[in-house]
This record gives sequence, C-alpha cells and structure tokens, in this order.
Amino acid sequence: MQEAESSLRTASRRPLASGRAPGRRRSYLLLSPRDRRLTTLDALSLDRPSQAQDFLDQYQIKEHVENAINAVVQDKPANPLAAMADALKAAGGASITKVTARQIFDSRGNPTVEADVVTALGTFTAAVPSGASTGIHEACELRDGGSAYMGKGVLKAVANVNDTLGPALMGMDPTDQEAIDAKMIEIDGTPNKANMGANAILAVSLAACRAGAAHKNVPLYKHISELSGNSKMILPVPAFNIINGGMHAGNALAFQEFMIMPTGASSFSEAMKMGSEVYHNLKSIIKGKYGLDACNVGDEGGFAPGIQSNEEGVQLVVEAIEKAGYTGKVKIAMDCAASEFYDGESKTYDLAFKAKDNDGSQKKTGAEMKAFYEDLASKYPIISIEDPFDQDDWDSYAQLTAEGVAQIVGDDLLCTNPVRVEKSIGMKACDALLLKVNQIGSVTESIKAVNMSKQAGWGVMTSHRSGETEDTFIADLAVGLSTGQIKTGAPCRSERLSKYNQLLRIEAELGDKAVYAGEAMWRHIKNE
Ligand SMILES: [Mg+2]
Repeated sequence: MQEAESSLRTASRRPLASGRAPGRRRSYLLLSPRDRRLTTLDALSLDRPSQAQDFLDQYQIKEHVENAINAVVQDKPANPLAAMADALKAAGGASITKVTARQIFDSRGNPTVEADVVTALGTFTAAVPSGASTGIHEACELRDGGSAYMGKGVLKAVANVNDTLGPALMGMDPTDQEAIDAKMIEIDGTPNKANMGANAILAVSLAACRAGAAHKNVPLYKHISELSGNSKMILPVPAFNIINGGMHAGNALAFQEFMIMPTGASSFSEAMKMGSEVYHNLKSIIKGKYGLDACNVGDEGGFAPGIQSNEEGVQLVVEAIEKAGYTGKVKIAMDCAASEFYDGESKTYDLAFKAKDNDGSQKKTGAEMKAFYEDLASKYPIISIEDPFDQDDWDSYAQLTAEGVAQIVGDDLLCTNPVRVEKSIGMKACDALLLKVNQIGSVTESIKAVNMSKQAGWGVMTSHRSGETEDTFIADLAVGLSTGQIKTGAPCRSERLSKYNQLLRIEAELGDKAVYAGEAMWRHIKNE
C-alpha cells in the first residue's frame, strides 16, 4: 500500500506538458484525485491498493496512458481525445474477440455469406461472391438446399461461422493471416472445404484480412502486398465486360464475355475514361442496329444484343472502340467459358448450344476450335482468351498456348487451385491465372496460387463473379498482389463499379506514386 501510494504521489507531482523542452521525454499528469481512484478500485473489487498497483503493472496501463498523452501533445491532432482513444485501442493488442456471420443477398438476388471479425479496433466486414458458370474443380459453396430461396440459402454456412469457425479464432492475431486460414482449413478437414463451406471460410478470411490491415495501420492493399512478399503496388489494367453471351445472357452468343482492355492508357483513371466512352458508344451502336430493347444489360453490366455469331460480337466491339477514337489503345479480351458448350461424349464444342435440337452444323473439334481462335486473333486486336476449351481438355489448351497468338487464361481450367496451377505450368497448358478468391476459399491460398503463377512467368487477372456484392476487396487484392489485370464487369451496375471506384480511390491515395500496369506490364509483373 505504501509503495503504491508513494508511486502515485510522485506521478501526480510530475509537470504538465509545456512543450518547451525539446529533445527530452516528458511525463505528464496522469492520475486521478484519490477519491476517484478509490471508486475505480471498488468497481474492480480490488480491496488493497497493492492489488491495484499489480493490476496497473500487469497491463502497463500507466505507460500506455502516458504514451497516448505524449503522442497527442506532440502531434496536436484536431480531436486529441479521439486520437488518444485510438492509440489506447491499438495498444490493447491485436486479437480477435468475436466472429459472426449473416445471410445477405448478391447482385442476382441470391443469398450469400457476410462475416464480421471484431477486434479492439472495431468490426471488419466482408462478403463473398458467387458464380453462375462454375468449374467442377472449385471449392465447395455450401447451400442449404430445400425449397427456401430456391435451395440457395446459406444459413448452414452462416451457422458454421457462428458455431464453429468463429469460436476457434478467438484470441488469434488478425495480422497472422496464414495462421487464421490454416486453422479454418484444419477444422474443415476436406480438400474442397465441403464441410464448413468455402463461402463460410472465405468470408471470415477476407474480414480478418481487413482487421489485420487496421492493426498494422496500413491500407488493405499494402497489408496484402506484405502478406504476399510483393513490394510493388501497381494499378491493374481493367478488362470491362461489355458484351455478354454464354450462360450470362439470353441471346444466341456462345462465348460468355467480350471485354475491352485499355492497355494504351497512361493511368488507371484514363483507362476508366476510355472504358466508359467505349461502353457508351457501343450502347448507341447497339441501339441503332438492334433497337432499344437490346440495350438491356446482363449480370455483369454488359449488353446482350441478339447477336448470332461470336465474330459479330467482336466486330461490334471493334466498331465501338473506333467510334470512341481509341483504336490501338483499347484491345479486346474474350472469356469463352467453353466447358459450357463442350460435349464430353463426342468431344466437340457446339457453338449453337443455346438452340435446343440444332442441326449440329456448328459443332467443332478441339483442333477446329484452335484454328477458329487463331483466325479471330489474326483479324482483330484480341490479346487475351479465357477458357477457350473444356476444363479437362488439357491437350487443346497446350496446343493453342504454344501458338502464342494471345494470352491464354485458365479459369474453369485452374479454379485458382494450386494443384491445377502446378499441372498447367508443367504442361504449358495456359499462361495466365484467373484469380477468383471464392474458387479456392481463402486469402492465403489465393496468394499462393498467384505467386506460383508469377514465378512461372504467367499473367494474373483478378476477377469478380457474376453474382457480386458491394464488397470491394478484390480491388485492393489486385493492387497488393500487382496482378496487372482485373476484370470486374462493365463500367455499369454499382456492384461492378464499386471495385473500379475503389481502384480510383487507391490511385488518388498513392498520388504521384501510383503506377498503372499499362502496355508494358499488364501481362506479367514479377514480385520484388
Ligand atoms: Mg470465366
């Protein structure tokens, strides 16, 4: 008691800050008047002041309060009490105190999982997307089945977060992404996250990553770059999906996406300007040729006019680029999603697959498809082709990639799965990864897949899904991992633009340090 009282008295006699003694660390008045201190002790049920001192020492409360006061005296923030509160919260240590999840809805009106990770610094939230064209090798998206929400409810996945994953993560350090993801994968215990659901695991993984960034007091993209060992932070070339076909549209078009990539822009904001102008020019062309009805947009914001052939789709895009005045600066990318029109029995691709009972005249073999792609790439400025063949037609992939006519991107082929990426590197089946975090189901495994791809000299295109939410995580991911490319729909529909808008914010925040991948780096950025 004597010892504690004397220490308090000494402290209370210390001078208040004057700011007049530069170079010397000062101490400031910290302690409450005696009666107030005793009230606090009563509340803590500590009956002896020596216990109070032990308590203060155990949590280094005096030092932390002193540091917080010193910091505000030195920095003189506009709201010193709020700044002190932030400093004390940060000093409270990085540990997860609560994890919960809920069912929300994606851009197609289907349920999806959103998770909150709570730490001393606040609540960090993330939501997972969902695809329409899904590869059979993807991690398992857990759905409830039954009649509610057409079987697409995610309440089981939500319960898995609330009852199992969340309690297991209590007390863990949110900056240790690897340990958090490893813990959840261990609990799940299956190779494809079928037990807990990849949607449950990913929601927590993304939210924890946001919490980790906050505890390091850095932007999310910077935290991701540090997790991956990549020191570059480069803004990606956007791939705007402006014409929709395949499973995403009701027209006859077999290929799923026709995209424009402004590789010739000098900055990300200029790329947005080019993308937006080409998009609006395309709209007026479609209105003139196919009528106003054809200007309705598909799941990803692209138009879905009544086009009959894939080549007609490419020609429309070329015309829009020309009309906007960006010929040579804006190139074309396609996602064929060919697994959707492949017949495993006859080993053929049916370009008329949407017309039931068609005469079969548009069925092509792998070799014929390869020749078709080469012809298209020689006639039009096509720089990237995604999923040109079925997800298990490895040989056709390798044969087309060997021609080098365009970047060949593996989406359904790879499923962002390190095992399939490794096989593809060995076979030279493709030369770019489509990075979809929900195909693999955690931040750590996504980073691993990207680093493997980069080491093989591949390109990486970060990607949204057709069922999206307003979550912008993948924008920070693309910059943090310097993937060089991002596809997140047309410059239309807020769940698509939320990602592009976040990239504009990151560009503004980086200021004169902002670097756009552009012509020189879109296809491959080495980690440094
Ligand atoms: Mg795809």
